[in-house]
Amino acid sequence: MSQPQTGERVSDVLALFISDLHLQPAHPATSEAFFDFLERHARRAQQLYLLGDLFEFWAGDDDIGDAFNQQIIAALRSVVDAGTRVYWIGGNRDFLVGTGFAEAAGLTLLPETYVTEIGGQRLVLLHGDAQCTEDVKYMEFRAMVRQPAYQQQFLAMPLAQRKAIIAGMRENSRSEQGGKSYEIMDVTPQAIGDVFAQTGTDIMIHGHTHRPALHRVGATRRYVLPDWEPDATPPRGGWIAIDGNGAITRHDLSGAVI
Ligand code: MN
Repeated sequence: MSQPQTGERVSDVLALFISDLHLQPAHPATSEAFFDFLERHARRAQQLYLLGDLFEFWAGDDDIGDAFNQQIIAALRSVVDAGTRVYWIGGNRDFLVGTGFAEAAGLTLLPETYVTEIGGQRLVLLHGDAQCTEDVKYMEFRAMVRQPAYQQQFLAMPLAQRKAIIAGMRENSRSEQGGKSYEIMDVTPQAIGDVFAQTGTDIMIHGHTHRPALHRVGATRRYVLPDWEPDATPPRGGWIAIDGNGAITRHDLSGAVI
C-alpha cells in the first residue's frame, strides 16, 4: 500500500463499508443517521458495501411494501441513481433478502464470502456470524435456516405468520441469553484463519460481533465494523473507507477518522 505523498492529491473514496445498523421503526435515530450517511458520504463514493444486518429482521421480499421498508429502499435507490454501486451481503438477521429487494433498491447481492480488489488491495468481505464457531447452538440454527428447502417452506407461509415466528425467535434470544442477542459471541481465530487461507487474502472486513477494531495478526489485517446506535451513550456507529491510494480508514458517525 502506498501512502499519499506530500502535495499528492488524495483520490476520492472508492468504497465504503457498513453493517449491523439493525434498522427498525422502534429506533428512528438509527434510520436518521443512516439517511445522513447516505446523503453526505455514500453518494460521493464509487461503491457502498452493506455487510449484513442492515435490518433488524427481514421476513421476505413480499414485505417490500411495508412503509418503513419503503423508506429504506427509496434512500438506497437514491444513492444508486446518483451513481454509487451498492452491494449486499446478508447477515443473520436479514439473510432472507432476495432478488425482489435487490431489484427494488438497485443493489447487487453478493455471496456470503466475497473476494474483491479495491484500490489495488485484495480483500475478503463477509458478515462474520459463520465464524462464531464456538456458539454451537447458533451454528446448528444457521445450518438449518440457510438450507434452500427450509427457506422455501418458510417463505411459503403467510407474511403475518412469518413475522410472528421471527418476533418469537427474537424474544427467545433475548430471554435465553440474559437480555443479549446472539451477537455476544466473537469469531474464533481458527475460523478467521480458515477464511484467509481459503481465499488467499490478508485483509478482511466484517461485522456482526459489535466489537469494532483493527486486528493485526502476522501479515493479516482484520477490520471489524461497529453496530449503530447513535442515541446510545456513548453513541455507536461508523464505517470503513478505502481511498484511491488503497488506504483503509475507520470512521465514527461524524466521519472523523478513528
Ligand atoms: Mn449479525
